[in-house]
Amino acid sequence: MVADGDARRACGYARLSGTMRFDIVTIFPEFFAGPLDHGILRRARETGLVDVRIQDLRAFTKDRHRSVDDRPFGGGEGMVLKPEPLFEATESLLGQSMGSAQEPASLDSETAIVLMSAAGNLFRQETARRYAQLDRIIFLCGRYEGVDERVAEHLATEEISVGDYVLSGGELPAVVVIDAVTRLIPGALGNEASSQNESFSETIVARDSSPVGAQHAAPLQASSQFPNYLLLDFPHYTRPADFRGWKVPEVLIGGNHAEVANWRRAAALEKTQRNRPDLLLR
Ligand code: SAH
Repeated sequence: MVADGDARRACGYARLSGTMRFDIVTIFPEFFAGPLDHGILRRARETGLVDVRIQDLRAFTKDRHRSVDDRPFGGGEGMVLKPEPLFEATESLLGQSMGSAQEPASLDSETAIVLMSAAGNLFRQETARRYAQLDRIIFLCGRYEGVDERVAEHLATEEISVGDYVLSGGELPAVVVIDAVTRLIPGALGNEASSQNESFSETIVARDSSPVGAQHAAPLQASSQFPNYLLLDFPHYTRPADFRGWKVPEVLIGGNHAEVANWRRAAALEKTQRNRPDLLLR
């Protein structure tokens, strides 16, 4: 299984079976009624590119109150999600044990168990690209003060944050990740080209390594100075060409494709420098 998956990735193939499976483990199953039912995500589900299933964490409790949380050892505010229901929900989804300290278990390499966590690794476009190659992702959504650390250590294969801020639960972050990954699955977007030229794609400049056209020079010169960086998307304009006196850049109306391409590259670079200089320094 492992070798097979590595070979597939090396060839640039995505999963063999057509459908990517997402499972969301949550104490709020009703949360997902709206966010998965629109646009690209809806279409990807309807056409069977992705299969999203919701698992109620409380189904894996055994006490009368169906409690999923408990007070923190060491004292302090709030409640912490207990390990047992999260382990058992995941094991039930996988149909295998996730082991113990005595007998650690292993997982096939085409499946990820992702704990949503403000203290996790930052989710980026490159993470989304990696996830889009998998067969299956199980999302564990925290609530309250968070999740017993043994879940991050011994159940989850990754701990992921969607940004440097604290949300109330892992449900919105799970939807964020599912959305970003789904649009990278071949066939999810109407126009295949459109996921290749978006923000954070390294290919925008790499494809043409000649310097940005001097006549439209941005404050920065391109590839020689920043050989390997991520760019934001270039600015888009549509009609009217003159809106309240704010005009669309002349070059976009001229119809010269080479000049348009040059302008877009320079504008993307300029915008990246203005809004996200950190991307150019990475
Ligand atoms: N005490 C934690 C925050 C808990 S918020 C801390 O300070 O780091 C409750 C739950 O919301 C978390 O367990 C996690 O599942 C989710 N969450 C909050 N912010 C998140 C973020 N930026 N990315 C992903 N998940 C987040």
